Amino acid sequence: MAAQETDDHKYVYDFSEGNKDLKDLLGGKGANLAEMTNLGLPVPPGFTITTEACQAYLATGREPDGLAGQIEAHLEALEREMGKRLGDPGDPLLVSVRSGAKFSMPGMMETVLNVGLNDQSVVGLSAQAGGNGRFAWDSYRRLIQMFGKTVCEVPGEEFEHALDEVKSARGTHNDLDLDADDLRGLVDAYKKIFAKHTGREFPQQPREQLDLAIRAVFESWNAERAVLYRRQERIPADLGTAVNVVTMVFGNLGPDSGTGVAFTRDPGSGAQGIYGDYLANAQGEDVVAGIRNTVPLQELERLDKSSYDELLSIMARLEEHYRDLCDIEFTIERGKLWMLQTRVGKRTAAAAFVIAGQLVDEGLIDLDEALHRVNGAQLAQLMFPRFQLDHEFEAVATGIGASPGAASGAVVFTSARAVELAAEGKSVILVRRETNPDDLNGMIAAKGILTSRGGKTSHAAVVARGMGKTCVSGADEIDVNVPAKRFTVAGRTVTEGDVVSIDGTTGKVYLGEVPVMPSEVVQYFEGSLDAEHVDNPLVRAVHRIMTHADGKRRLAVRTNADTGADAARARRFGAEGIGLCRTEHMFLGDRRELVERLILARAEGERGEALAALLPLQRADFEEIFREMDGLPVTVRLIDPPLHEFLPPLEQLAVNVAVAQERGEDVAKEEALLAAVRRMHEENPMLGLRGVRLGLVIPGLFAMQVRAIAEAAVAVVRAGGVARPEIMVPLVGAVQELETVRAEAERIIAEVVGDSGVEVLIGTMIEVPRAALTAGQIAEAAEFFSFGTNDLTQMGWGFSRDDVEGAFFWRYLELGIFGISPFESIDRDGVGRLVRIAAEEGRAARPGLKLGVCGEHGGDPDSVHFFHEVGLDYVSCSPFRVPVARLEAGRAAVQTDGSDSR
Ligand code: PEP
Ligand code: MG
Repeated sequence: MAAQETDDHKYVYDFSEGNKDLKDLLGGKGANLAEMTNLGLPVPPGFTITTEACQAYLATGREPDGLAGQIEAHLEALEREMGKRLGDPGDPLLVSVRSGAKFSMPGMMETVLNVGLNDQSVVGLSAQAGGNGRFAWDSYRRLIQMFGKTVCEVPGEEFEHALDEVKSARGTHNDLDLDADDLRGLVDAYKKIFAKHTGREFPQQPREQLDLAIRAVFESWNAERAVLYRRQERIPADLGTAVNVVTMVFGNLGPDSGTGVAFTRDPGSGAQGIYGDYLANAQGEDVVAGIRNTVPLQELERLDKSSYDELLSIMARLEEHYRDLCDIEFTIERGKLWMLQTRVGKRTAAAAFVIAGQLVDEGLIDLDEALHRVNGAQLAQLMFPRFQLDHEFEAVATGIGASPGAASGAVVFTSARAVELAAEGKSVILVRRETNPDDLNGMIAAKGILTSRGGKTSHAAVVARGMGKTCVSGADEIDVNVPAKRFTVAGRTVTEGDVVSIDGTTGKVYLGEVPVMPSEVVQYFEGSLDAEHVDNPLVRAVHRIMTHADGKRRLAVRTNADTGADAARARRFGAEGIGLCRTEHMFLGDRRELVERLILARAEGERGEALAALLPLQRADFEEIFREMDGLPVTVRLIDPPLHEFLPPLEQLAVNVAVAQERGEDVAKEEALLAAVRRMHEENPMLGLRGVRLGLVIPGLFAMQVRAIAEAAVAVVRAGGVARPEIMVPLVGAVQELETVRAEAERIIAEVVGDSGVEVLIGTMIEVPRAALTAGQIAEAAEFFSFGTNDLTQMGWGFSRDDVEGAFFWRYLELGIFGISPFESIDRDGVGRLVRIAAEEGRAARPGLKLGVCGEHGGDPDSVHFFHEVGLDYVSCSPFRVPVARLEAGRAAVQTDGSDSR
C-alpha cells in the first residue's frame, strides 16, 4: 500500500515499509509486524506511528506537524486495501490501536480495540457478521469500555459493575449467556456512564475515536506503572512508544474462531516443542484477563487442523528467520489464521542456556553467537540454591527479591546476635527494619537478610548482592520491633530464634524451614556433576558455553580469597590464581587482641612480642593458601584495615571506664587503653591511618608479613609444591611510599628465599586517584598494578563507602544521576578514566607491567567488558563470581552481531 506523505518528516510507516531492525523507530511490535508482513505471513494490514512522533507529543503536549495528514493518507490507503471504510454504516473497517515500545513492557501501556464502531456501524457490523447481533453489540460495548477507561479515565469498575448487573438480571456468571438485546442494553448503560464521567456523549466520529486513542497510547508511556517498570528494568525514560493501528480481526465470531499465544520452545526450561494456550470464540484480552480457561494449543489440531498446521509451519519459519525462540499471538477468524504479534521471547536463565545450545546443534547460530545469547546475570541466577516448594508452604509476606537465593535460619534482630549464633554454627536470618554499615558483620554472619523497608538499592540489597547473600528487602507487611526482639506478620508473632525462610528471587517470606537444594550448575562447577555424562540439558549447555568462553577470553580470572577453603572452592570454579588476599581478615577473632597490642604499643618490646606471636600464625595462613593454589599466582595484600576496625569503640570504652570508676573499681589499665584509643581516634578512618600509611608508621608490621609470606612460599616449595607469591602494597598515592616498603621487603625476601628458587613479585594497588595520575612514576617501583576500584570509586567521587549507599543513592538513582550504583558497576567516564590513564601510563613506563583489578567490579558483568577493553590482564572477584567473570570475559572477547540478550 503506498501512502502519500504530507510533511517532510516521516512519522507513519506502513507495515510493508518497516523491518525487524527498526525497533528504535517502530517499537518491537511494529518492527516485527513489518518483518512478518515482508515474510509474506498473514498479518492484518496496518501502519505504525513512530516513537519519534510520541517523543514530540510528550515534549510539546501536541501532535507534531504533519502527523495528522500522514495518518489520514495511511488510513485511506488501508481503507482502499481492505475495501472498507472506517465508520461505514454498511460495512465498517475497524482497527485496534496498540502500544509498542522498543523494549517489551508487558501490560504497562494501553490498547484500544474495535475503533470505528458507532451507533450506525454497529448495525452494519452485525449484518456483515451474518446477522450476528450478539457479536456486534459485544464489540461495541468493549470499545466504549476500553475507550472510556483508557482515553477518558472513566473508572473501570463502573463498567464492570454494569456488566455484573446485566448478568445477575439474567441469572448467569458467564458473558457468553448474554444475547444481543442484553448487550444492546449494556451499550446504553455504558454510554450513560461515559457521559456522566466525561460530561460529553461517546464520540461517534471514527476519526475522532482514532485520534484520541492514539493520543492516549502516547500518554500511557508516562503512566505511573510504566514509569516504575522502566526504572526497574533500566529502560531509558525518553524512548517513547510507537502506536500500531491494525485492522481488526475477530476471534469471537463463533466456534470456528479463537485466539491464542504460543512459544516456539518452552520459555521455562528451553525444551523443544510447541507451548501455548488457545481459547475458542474469544478476543485476546479474554485470554489475558483469565475470564475463561484456555486449552493447550495442541487441542487446536482437533478443532481446526488446517489452521494448526499453518501455525506450526509459521512458527518453524519464524524460528529459522529470527534464529531464536519466538513468542507469538494469533487470532483465527472463521477458519482464517492471522498473526498479531511476534518477538524474540523472554525466557528464564535456564532456558537461555539450553536454547543457545540447541540452536548451535541445529546450525542456526555458532558458539560465538551462543555466548551472546546468555549472560553473567543469568549464570549467577543458576548458581543460587533453590527452595524445594513441593510441600505446602505459604508465604506470609512478600517483599522485593533484592538478592537471589534461598535461605532459612533462626531469626535474629541485631548484628551482634547474628555473629554470636553463627559462631555456634547456627544458620541465622538477620531481620532489620533496614540495615546500615554497622550491620555488616551480622550480614556476613547471616545466611540471609530480611528488611521491612528499602528497595532493590537499599543498603541491605546492595551489600547482600555484593556478598552473593540472599536478601528480601522492603517486606512492609512485617512489623519489626528490635528492642522486643520480635516481628509480627499476618497476625503472627515471630520471636528471636524462630525459623523463617526467605526467597531472594521472588521476595517471598515463609515461616519455618523450607528445604533447599544446591543448584545443579553449582554441582557441576564443584565437580560433582560430570557434564559429559550427565543427562541434564542445562548442565550440558552451561558446560559447552563455558568451555567456549574459556577458549575465547583474553582476560584471566582470579579470585579474592583469604582462606584455604575459599581458595579451594574458587579454584574448582575455575579461578586461575588469587588476585587479592586481604590479610586484615586474618587478624580478626582471637588474634584481634594481638593486633590491638601492636597498634597501641608504646614500647619497642611490647610491639616485638606481638609481632613475634603473629609471625607463625601468618606463615601458617599463607602456607595453606599457597598449597591450595599450587602453581598459580597468589597476590597477598599487606594489611589495610581502617584503624577503627581493630580498636575497641571509643564511646563504649569511655562508658565502661566511667561506670567502673563510679563503682570504685581499679581502672588504671582501662584508662590507659582509653587514652591510647583517644590518641588514635580518627574522625574519618577511611581516609586516615590505613594501608601503606599504617605500614610506614608501625615499625615491623609489614616486615613481619613479608617474612611470613616468603617463609611460607619456601616451605611449600621445599615440600615439592610451586608457590608464586605477589606482595601487594595497599593505598599507595606516591611512588616514594612504595619505594620505602619495597626496599625493606626486598631485603627480607633475599634473606629468606636464599636458593629455594622462590620468586616474589612486588606491586601495588591503584586505589588512590593520585596513584592513577602518577602511574608512570609508580610503575618504576611496581611489577604489577591491581586496581582497587572500591577505594578508587570512594575517593574518585568523594563518597564514603560505608555511608552513602543507604544515605542518598536511592535519590540519585531516582533522579537518573546514576543508572546503577558506581560501587556495583564501574563508572566508565570518571573512575574508569582513571583506570585507563593508569593502565596506559603504567605500561608506557614498564612494558611488562601486569595489570588486574580486585575491587568488587571485577565480578560485575558490565565492568568485566570495560576491563577487557582497557587491556587488563586479569579480573579478580569473589569465588562465587568466578564463573560469571569467565563467561563475561568470553563474551567481551567475541564480536557481537548486535543481538541483545535483554
Ligand atoms: C578496593 O579498594 O577496591 C579493594 C579491593 O580494597 P578494599 O576493598 O579491601 O579496600
Ligand atoms: Mg581498598
